[in-house]
Amino acid sequence: MDIDSYEFTGIRISLSFVNQLLPGKLQGNEFKGKVDFSTLTDILSEDPGSLQRLEENHVEEFVSLAKVLREIIVLLGKGEVSTSAQKLNALMSECPATPSLECDENGHWHLHHHPLDAGLIAMWTAICAEGLARMVGEQHYHRFGVCEAVECDRVFFDTSRNGRRRFCSVSCQNRTKIAAFRLRNSKNK
Ligand SMILES: [Zn+2]
Repeated sequence: MDIDSYEFTGIRISLSFVNQLLPGKLQGNEFKGKVDFSTLTDILSEDPGSLQRLEENHVEEFVSLAKVLREIIVLLGKGEVSTSAQKLNALMSECPATPSLECDENGHWHLHHHPLDAGLIAMWTAICAEGLARMVGEQHYHRFGVCEAVECDRVFFDTSRNGRRRFCSVSCQNRTKIAAFRLRNSKNK
């Protein structure tokens, strides 16, 4: 599984929306969420077409989408698949992922999973919902999770072979190891 590949766009962007836009805890620190235009510009930078259409007033709508995506990812991480499936179905019927072909400036055709004339929010809702739904359909839903480290609530998608990832980052994994080590040491004294 290569999270950087094109077919994982929906998952990759969903994680970025949730982890960057929503407030909570980030690797041991209070996190206010980066709700601004430049954060969205960064997240959507892999799609020049989206950047051209992105406007200041889209920011709040993307935050709303991020909240729904977080709910679904948290549920998937807990194995509550039927509730997640209902929520994903609702998103997909609201913003259908109609496939269509588009030609780029080099004359290469690309298959997009959304209508070309869909609004920016509807388009990304469709892409994200489809990305998550595909993992449910392929029995990979358990790979979604919320970081188990203290003072962290960021979400992740586990692409490892054994699928046993527990933390959002190496930083949280190390913090947890060090804390466990200190606890053992203090008990041994
Ligand atoms: Zn973490």
